[in-house]
Amino acid sequence: CGIVGYIGWRDAAPLVVEGLKRLEYRGYDSFGVATENGEIRVVKRSGRISENGADITALGGTIGIGHTRWATHGVPNDTNAHPHTDCSGRIAVVHNGIIENYAVLKRKLIENGHRFASETDTEVIAHLVEEHHRGDLLAAVTEAVRHLEGSYAILVIAKDDTRIIAARKSSPLVLGIGDGETLCASDITPLLDHTERAVYLEDGDIAALTPARIDVYHDGVAVERAVNHITWSV
Ligand code: GLU
Repeated sequence: CGIVGYIGWRDAAPLVVEGLKRLEYRGYDSFGVATENGEIRVVKRSGRISENGADITALGGTIGIGHTRWATHGVPNDTNAHPHTDCSGRIAVVHNGIIENYAVLKRKLIENGHRFASETDTEVIAHLVEEHHRGDLLAAVTEAVRHLEGSYAILVIAKDDTRIIAARKSSPLVLGIGDGETLCASDITPLLDHTERAVYLEDGDIAALTPARIDVYHDGVAVERAVNHITWSV
């Protein structure tokens, strides 16, 4: 339903939580945050952040992704809440949209030895990224999304990787360029507190975010995307 990411110099989890609260107007049934802090740490559960999420801000780390879920595949409960992780717990994914071919992918992944924790379509993405991970998260996500049918806006982080990898198809994703920090979200509202410079990803784009820069790729080729000046007008 809504996603937010932060990579920079500040404590990521409180910023991600603030961003998710800005998306609360969309309505949701569960929420969660993952950060990278030498390991991948995840807190997720059903309910509302404002009532039930006080401990998230203690996750630590300057790289974080978060999600508010409107369940399409799997009931709203703590396990089905995003972020979803791979078998090793080294990769975490948040996802908006629907993976139409998840059942086929899940069956193949289980045959290859992957164990699933949730009933969601989203979890296949975490395992696909793990399957294709040879040390470079950008390459792994690029390969993983080639297998996906349906709609997605995703953010992916991995242990010991100092980037957020973002990808979208038929689901919106906007990046915010800050001062030594980069944000991203499914709509502009969470970004407005932090920056006036926004980059809208196009369908099929994959972006690598660091605190200092955004690199966008399309069909494996580096592309330039315009930086828009946004102002909050009431
Ligand atoms: N299809 C995913 C799920 O059910 C994502 C739903 C959403 O966009 O919130 O978990």
